[in-house]
Amino acid sequence: MAIEVTVERSSEGTPTLTLAGSLDEHCNLGADVAEPPAGAVLNLAGIRRINSVGVLHWLKWIKALTEVKEIWVDAVPYNLVVQANHLVDFFGKAKVRSCLVPYYCPRCKTNVEREVKVEEVGPSQAPVKRCEKCNTEMDFDEVDEYFAFLRRDDALK
Ligand SMILES: [Zn+2]
Repeated sequence: MAIEVTVERSSEGTPTLTLAGSLDEHCNLGADVAEPPAGAVLNLAGIRRINSVGVLHWLKWIKALTEVKEIWVDAVPYNLVVQANHLVDFFGKAKVRSCLVPYYCPRCKTNVEREVKVEEVGPSQAPVKRCEKCNTEMDFDEVDEYFAFLRRDDALK
């Protein structure tokens, strides 16, 4: 399956490219994704799978792209956070602004994913999030190192 891209423009004209699908041997980012202009935002929430071949495709594409253009990254999903914590420069020179974070509501007994902005992440912990259904404070359902990839860029001070 190829990567699907939806493009939306803000009122200021900044495009957000929302990528969805699997990063694997079937994707060809150079062909699937029209090259974004400088200042564009990549929203990655819809990337639901990545394998080792996909990682190589991704690294090549994002490095070449961000070498010459300022690019922002939003909503990094769990599977890409895991990769980013293993691989330095997983996002090239792109600036990551938010990631998706697993939480657990002890009252509803449900797992949910919430988007957390870089500035919300404390020096060693996830921000408090309340359940949308019952307003209970939810548990962060990962290890503190989940956010290590953000700290590496000095995004967090
Ligand atoms: Zn709840």
